[in-house]
Amino acid sequence: MQNIIIEKVETCETELKYKIHCRQDRQYCRCNHCYGPLGATHEWKDRVIRGPPVGAYTETIIYLKQFRGHCISCDDKVRSANINFVHPNFQNMTMALCEYAGRLMEEITCEAVARLLRLNPKTMWDLDQVRMRMMKPLLSLPEEIDLNFMSADEVHFRSLRKTNSVARPEIKFVTTLVCYKESKILSTAMGRDSKALKACLDVLSAPQKLSINFFAVDMHDPFIKVIKRYCPNAEICIDRFHLSQNVNDAFDWVRKHEFSLAKKQNDEFQIKMLAPHRRFVLVEKEKNLEKKDLKMLDRLKEINKNILNGMILVEHFHAILDKKEVVEFRKSLTLWYRLVRESGLKPFRKLASTIRKYRLNIESYIRSKLTTAVSEGLNNKIKVLKRMGYGYTNEQSFQLKILQRCGFLNSKFINTTGWFWQIPENLALNTPF
Ligand SMILES: [Zn+2]
Repeated sequence: MQNIIIEKVETCETELKYKIHCRQDRQYCRCNHCYGPLGATHEWKDRVIRGPPVGAYTETIIYLKQFRGHCISCDDKVRSANINFVHPNFQNMTMALCEYAGRLMEEITCEAVARLLRLNPKTMWDLDQVRMRMMKPLLSLPEEIDLNFMSADEVHFRSLRKTNSVARPEIKFVTTLVCYKESKILSTAMGRDSKALKACLDVLSAPQKLSINFFAVDMHDPFIKVIKRYCPNAEICIDRFHLSQNVNDAFDWVRKHEFSLAKKQNDEFQIKMLAPHRRFVLVEKEKNLEKKDLKMLDRLKEINKNILNGMILVEHFHAILDKKEVVEFRKSLTLWYRLVRESGLKPFRKLASTIRKYRLNIESYIRSKLTTAVSEGLNNKIKVLKRMGYGYTNEQSFQLKILQRCGFLNSKFINTTGWFWQIPENLALNTPF
C-alpha cells in the first residue's frame, strides 16, 4: 500500500483477521479523474478494502479514509483521491489480493478460492474472467515448442434446446488444437467444421505448420481437408482415442436396441442389465469387475446373442489397435470385418465401412506409435471444468478457461508478477465489466 498513513493495526487471532486503519496521505492525493492535485478538503470518506492474507491472518481488512476534495482542473468539482493499490475493475480489493486469488483460480475452482479467502464466489468468477481477458493479448506460444505430433479434438460445449420446439437440441462444440509433446491445448475455436480447425491453426506460423509430422484426428472429413491443405507434411492418423469412442458408440446402439426389446418383453433381468446407467459394466474390462457383476454378465451373454457378439467385436477391436506392426494389424482387421458381417449387427457394419474408408489413416496411427494419454487427459480435464464452471453458458469464457487450465494462458507462461502492484492501464481499460 502506497501513500497512506497507518493509524492503527488490530489483529484478531480467533477470526484470523488483520485490520489496518489508515488514511490517505494528503500530500500525495491526486484527482482520480485527471491525476491533478486536489485542493480544499470536502470530506474523508470511509472505504473498506480487502487485501491479501498476511501470515496466518486470512482476512486483511483495510479501513481507509479516502480523501475527497476540489479539483481545479476538473472545473472545481469534488473528486475522490485516486487509490493506487485497488484493482481498477474491483474497487473493494487490492491488486495484490486479485492477483493472489487469480493465481489460485488457475489451479482450483472459483468456489474453492472464495471459501479459502472468504470472498464472494460470483466476484471470484468475474475476477477470473477479467484476468483471463487481460492475459489473452499477451498469449503466445513458447518459441522452442515441438510440434511434431499434433491432434485436433472436438469437445462438447453444450446442448441448446430451442424454446417451444420439439426439434432436436442444437449441440455446440469447441474444436481444440493439441500439442502432444507439451500435453497442451494451443488454441480453440467454436464449432467443429473446417473453419473452426482453420481458425485453430492460425496461431501457428507457416514454418510451424510445415513442421508437423503426425496429425491425429477423428474420422471427420472437414478436419482432414484442412490439414491436407495447410499442413502438407503431416501424416494424418485416426488415433485410438477416437476409434475407441466410435466402437463404444456402436456397442451402445446395440445395447439401446436390446434394452428397448427387453422392455417390450418385460424381461426384468435384461432390463436391469442393459439400463443406461449400467452400460459401463458392459464395456469394462472383465478383470476390473466384481465377482457379482461378472456372474450376471456371464448370464446375460448366455441369453443375449447380440450383446455377446457386440462385446466380442469391441474386445477384438481393441486388440487390433494394440498391434505394433501394420502387417499384423491388417490381418486382424480382415478377421474383424468377417466377424462384423457374421454378427449382422447394423451399427458395427456401418462402423466397419467407415473404418474401411479411413484404413490408411489408421495404419498411420499404428506406425506413429502415438498414445492417447494426452487426448484423454485433456478431455477429462475439460469435463471437470464444465462440471464445476457454473455450466459455462458463455462461449468465450469457456474457451478462455480451457486455455488457462490446459494451455499457456496462465501465470506459469505469462509473467504477471507486476500485477500484484499495478495493472497495465491499456489492458485494464480494455476489459469492460
Ligand atoms: Zn481532476
